[in-house]
Amino acid sequence: MSVSCSGIGVSNGIAIGEAHLLQRGRPDIVPRFIETDQISDEVDRFRQAVAGARRQLKAIRDKIAQNTRSDIVAFIDTHLLMLTDEALVEAPISTIREKQYAAEWALQVQRDALVRVFDEMEDDYLRTRKDDVEHVVDQIQKNLTLVDEDDLHHLEGKIIVAQDLTPADTILMRHQGVAAFVTEYGGPMSHTAILARSLGIPAVVGVHEATHNIQDTENLIVDGHQGIVIINAEDATLSQYLEKKDADLQHAESLRRLIDQPAQTIDGHTVQLLANIELPEDIETTPNLKANGVGLYRTEFLYMNRNDVPNEEEHFRAYRQVVNGLGGIPVTIRTLDLGADKQIDGCNDSDTPVCNPALGLRAIRLCLKEPQLFLPQLRAILRASAYGPIRIMIPMLSTLHEVKELRQMVEDVMYSLKRDGIAFDADIPIGGMIEIPAAALAAESFARELDFLSIGTNDLIQYTLAIDRVDDEVNYLFDPLHPSVLRLIQMVIDAGRNNNIPVSMCGEMAGDPRYIPLLLGMGLQEFSMQPGALLEAKHIFRNINAGELAERVTPLMQQLDTPETAEKLLQISALTS
Ligand code: PEP
Ligand code: MG
Repeated sequence: MSVSCSGIGVSNGIAIGEAHLLQRGRPDIVPRFIETDQISDEVDRFRQAVAGARRQLKAIRDKIAQNTRSDIVAFIDTHLLMLTDEALVEAPISTIREKQYAAEWALQVQRDALVRVFDEMEDDYLRTRKDDVEHVVDQIQKNLTLVDEDDLHHLEGKIIVAQDLTPADTILMRHQGVAAFVTEYGGPMSHTAILARSLGIPAVVGVHEATHNIQDTENLIVDGHQGIVIINAEDATLSQYLEKKDADLQHAESLRRLIDQPAQTIDGHTVQLLANIELPEDIETTPNLKANGVGLYRTEFLYMNRNDVPNEEEHFRAYRQVVNGLGGIPVTIRTLDLGADKQIDGCNDSDTPVCNPALGLRAIRLCLKEPQLFLPQLRAILRASAYGPIRIMIPMLSTLHEVKELRQMVEDVMYSLKRDGIAFDADIPIGGMIEIPAAALAAESFARELDFLSIGTNDLIQYTLAIDRVDDEVNYLFDPLHPSVLRLIQMVIDAGRNNNIPVSMCGEMAGDPRYIPLLLGMGLQEFSMQPGALLEAKHIFRNINAGELAERVTPLMQQLDTPETAEKLLQISALTS
């Protein structure tokens, strides 16, 4: 019987394929036997998981500061020691060999036995040490169930169904030929959504209970336009969707004819179309699509799926590859935007729980506080600037003081490079992302101190409307046409014009066909978006009239709060549907 579930369609398109369930959190360990000829591989798998757990703990210990309390260091040392303990390591291996239990189950059996012994202890202190056993076992189990690149090789054509996907997961999956994503959580600005759009694959998020209602290998249809997932569709529905999929393909084909055409409106107004990229290999499509440059290169993805942080050389190689690959068109490198929705391993190992990470030590705040993390990146960007046009872009600015500190750091790095005889672009433009309402309100002063501005609407909308961008429960409040959001955007565009510096938009709103005419009417000249959206955007520009739009939009911006204006704004959005 066919069942349909609804969520939020965050990446257009239709996918038809088998479900692949991705389990997260503390895994349920199911008793499972292995065959005799699998014993030695299973023992190896277990040993590797123990070695992985040891590596991770060591990395944490090496990274904690010299002045860390000695009991915390001792705590990690105890766990490291336990990872060499016979009771924890050798006993499960004997169980794998003798009883042919799968590694996870063998470890679980041993954990239960040890916990029972601790529970029976009289001494309160010793009884609490069972927590250590649990921690260490969890660490090994995590390694046993880790999604690694090899596990992902069979994902081609599959529809990933998960509670949630981290940016790190999606990065691993990006070149595996996944057909679609379906997640229980997440909003349109979550990184799963952004990544799905940039890969051009359909995605539906906020499908509650998806991992319970959908079984592994079940046949699914994912409709990213409507935000619908159909399980075991009947033949008539299936053929209807096959037709829709075909129509999508034909539309994509017709857009490809625009590659060599200019991004010019009917009345001859040319706009800059820029690409958002996440990994150096993403640039392959950018020159092919004839974009004017890269308006946002999200560098935090260099940090994902590893236990350490990249050094200067790694940063440098990545940036040089991008600059060389772009063949002379400029790239805007955004400095680290770690924290909040972009958490990584191997950095920021603080044990202190942070209640509001999106309001915490992220992006430029983290970089200024931890120069040892930031300086290698700055040095690498400057070194790469000798190979082609680069702009530095600072995320999450909230005060001018941050600009001042940043400029001082750049100057210091330039000084040291000069001293070492290393070439760089001494006039490298430094710009800032306006993604905090306070920064938008102060856009005039930022425009005076910076070489360009870029509006990050994903965060700007999140902070203006106080809605977590990854929480589907408040997605109904997500509204780029909210008068306050539009006013802030207008302020930034005007500040750029008044101070004669370029303003671009690199949030998802810039590539959304519904908002392109309005933004053009508001005076935006540079639109940066995931490469998959570039041709659709060009198609829109080539069919609208910039002068007419400006005439329609300017008076509306003066009276944003009336219902008539809301209606007229919706009419402008509907121009592209
Ligand atoms: C934004 O906030 O609009 C943006 C482009 O940055 P990110 O999505 O990486 O936070
Ligand atoms: Mg942002």
